[in-house]
Amino acid sequence: STLARFGDVRAQFPGMITGEGKPWHYLDTAATAQKPRVVIDAMARALGEDYATVHRGVYARSAEMTLAYEGARRRVAEFIGGSEDEIVFTRGATEAINLVAATWGMENIGPGDRILLSVLEHHSNIVPWQMLAERTGAQIDICPLTSDGCIDLDAAEAMLTERHKLVALAHVSNVLGSVLDAKRAADLAHGVGAKLLLDGCQAAPRLKVDVAAIGCDFYVFSAHKLYGPTGIGALWARSEILAAMPPYQGGGSMIDRVTFEKTTYAPPPQRFEAGTPAIAEAIALHAAVDFIEAIGLDNVHAHERALVAKLREELGAMNDITLFGPADSAGIVSFALGQGSGTVHPHDLGTILDEADVAIRAGHHCAQPLMDHLGVPATARASFGIYSDESDIVALLEGIARTRRIFA
Ligand code: PMP
Repeated sequence: STLARFGDVRAQFPGMITGEGKPWHYLDTAATAQKPRVVIDAMARALGEDYATVHRGVYARSAEMTLAYEGARRRVAEFIGGSEDEIVFTRGATEAINLVAATWGMENIGPGDRILLSVLEHHSNIVPWQMLAERTGAQIDICPLTSDGCIDLDAAEAMLTERHKLVALAHVSNVLGSVLDAKRAADLAHGVGAKLLLDGCQAAPRLKVDVAAIGCDFYVFSAHKLYGPTGIGALWARSEILAAMPPYQGGGSMIDRVTFEKTTYAPPPQRFEAGTPAIAEAIALHAAVDFIEAIGLDNVHAHERALVAKLREELGAMNDITLFGPADSAGIVSFALGQGSGTVHPHDLGTILDEADVAIRAGHHCAQPLMDHLGVPATARASFGIYSDESDIVALLEGIARTRRIFA
């Protein structure tokens, strides 16, 4: 495989073994990625011998921790092609989108304005905009998909008007693996004076992201899908946009000066990071970015592309399997087993696979509008990561064959 020259990548992930010490065929990386030892160690050190608060202490340990925390911000900025004062640490992608909706959205979206989303969005890139639309009197439009499950940017072009203030799209779909032509999406949005927010949850772990080259205005992702810890993610926003955004939450660290008469706020990114931040998590995210960049996103992408091609070829040859999504999907394969009244519910498939130590996701994947569009209540989803290999595909195919026998 493409990753062979990086040694035994899988052995660096303690989570890839079952309780009985057998290999675990973990095919749910799109939900959350397993963590390499270097990330676990970085987190343990940050919570252990290095631990102290940031931004306040006058003692050396706190000053060092502040450097490490801000170093993580710099590393994340470099990772996606932004500058460090444009990175806001959030709890994850969900909080990042809610932050943009509650701050930029409340300032810039008014009655009659429009927001363009797509059919395949994750609930976290739908519900915050619905809440904003309800508060402001804005309207939401939904861009359709092409027949193979990509966001149809020709349709988007035809739908966009001067009333559109925001386009918010998944860079990579968490269900179909479809990759957006992000640069074209940015050009289309800007063509009508709208901003583009990209949900990069599934893109950041598998594609080289460069926000400057794309030309988007907001980019969000979660660390836990990028081989880092839960509880932290990032919002990148163009500096002039961040500078004009009102605060999100109030509290310590986000202020310039507080009096009972009037409080002034710190400049970005501190303005958006009220309270003691996720210090150890930021440091572990730094380790995760170092880890994935040492392997290289191009190598990760090639590795996952080969696995997707193999799995799609195998499943595509079975006449009782329906494959969803485009042939060149990034790291993610959604499918259904059986047809009509012989359809096996994905939960049953997932349960039988679990008995063989194969973990897939079965459900609506927080994308119920997409399930409605596909005409199914749920799909089975196998998603790959840098530790995945052909043994996982073999185990999955064996499990599918066993499920077929049970249901025959
Ligand atoms: N968007 C996409 C495309 C996702 O895959 C996910 C996680 N499933 C999210 C948003 C939400 O991320 P989080 O739960 O980490 O905030």
